Amino acid sequence: MEENRMTEAAPEERNVRSGIRNAEKRKEEKQDAVNAAVPESESPFQGRIDIKSLELPALKDLLAAFGEKPFRAEQIYEWLHQKKAESFDEMTNLSKPLREKLKESTFIMTLREAAKMESKLDGTCKYLFELYDERVIESVLMRYHHGNSVCISSQVGCRMGCRFCASTLGGLERNLTASEMLEQVYQIERLTGERVSNVVVMGTGEPLDNYENLTAFIRILSSEKGLHISQRNITVSTCGLVEKIERLADEKLTITLALSMHAPNDEVRRQLMPVANKYALKDVLAACDHYYQKTGRRLTFEYSLTHGVNDGTAQAKELASLLKGKNCHVNLIPVNPVRERAFTRPDGKNIQNFKNVLEKNQITVTIRREMGSDIDAACGQLRKRYMDTNKREGGE
Ligand code: SAH
Repeated sequence: MEENRMTEAAPEERNVRSGIRNAEKRKEEKQDAVNAAVPESESPFQGRIDIKSLELPALKDLLAAFGEKPFRAEQIYEWLHQKKAESFDEMTNLSKPLREKLKESTFIMTLREAAKMESKLDGTCKYLFELYDERVIESVLMRYHHGNSVCISSQVGCRMGCRFCASTLGGLERNLTASEMLEQVYQIERLTGERVSNVVVMGTGEPLDNYENLTAFIRILSSEKGLHISQRNITVSTCGLVEKIERLADEKLTITLALSMHAPNDEVRRQLMPVANKYALKDVLAACDHYYQKTGRRLTFEYSLTHGVNDGTAQAKELASLLKGKNCHVNLIPVNPVRERAFTRPDGKNIQNFKNVLEKNQITVTIRREMGSDIDAACGQLRKRYMDTNKREGGE
């Protein structure tokens, strides 16, 4: 009965189009040129809306244009983000005509598992997911006693150019949509049948270089009608884009911010990270302080230890004095050697010494536990190897 009423009350095509435009406009308004995740020319979805990237208010706009009540948007949102539906036909509490309308004007983004490697040591799984345009991204599931943590990619490639990092070797190909970031988590839950409780945005890409999609992703992932992963269990790692950190501080999110510091001064930082030519460490740290003041969230500073570059006692002392008095935590990452890069890790004694110096200066510090060391080395290398192999097979 209700279904019939809805069919009769179907809005005019004109209204639907303008509703779609409204929903799109909400997204576009926030989207700058850099954020064009899916170039229209490359999209197989020609003109259809990526419904999984829509936050609830935008989804309500869209449904209003169909002449539907707001609760329909909530139902669809739950299907997409809580039940992780992959097709409209699964949405059995929606009328058939509504499902057809949704199929005509929107699409559901999904990812295909292209490869998987599982560690025999600790159960860590690395997944290669193929996107709709045949590009591939890497995501990692880490199993800890406190729960499952997933490390997701935020871009295909990266343009930040950090010298020790494998993800940046081919430059930036494109941004990921919010739906593609969500799907990495959803797909891992589907494939394993296990719950994910923590998400770290520490895979390929610079998340703050894909700001709008990232923040939509966080809001959807943590929403009550979605997977409801606490924002406190979401960490975003950045190489330090000052304006974006300041903007993030004002978003009213309670996620953990991790800064890739990697050096105690600009001179050393510039040797490792081109982004240090644009932003002085003092300004990056001021932006982090601002983030802390606004959110009350303890800061994490990541420091990849590289033999002979940033691992000396003097550098540990310099780092300690820079971070003195901050509510923070330092995460030491012995650098993962990347074939194309010349950096090597310090020996265990130097790593321990670096840690001791920080501790003596009352800085909380941990050495990152290596997960899945038998299946792959540094982040981005599985993807790189896959692409190199495919290129060879393709005769390029
Ligand atoms: N663009 C974000 C996320 C990058 S990856 C950022 O810069 O923070 C997450 C962390 O791993 C960063 O601290 C990054 O600098 C570090 N990393 C990348 N490649 C590495 C490698 N080969 N060895 C050790 N750490 C690496």
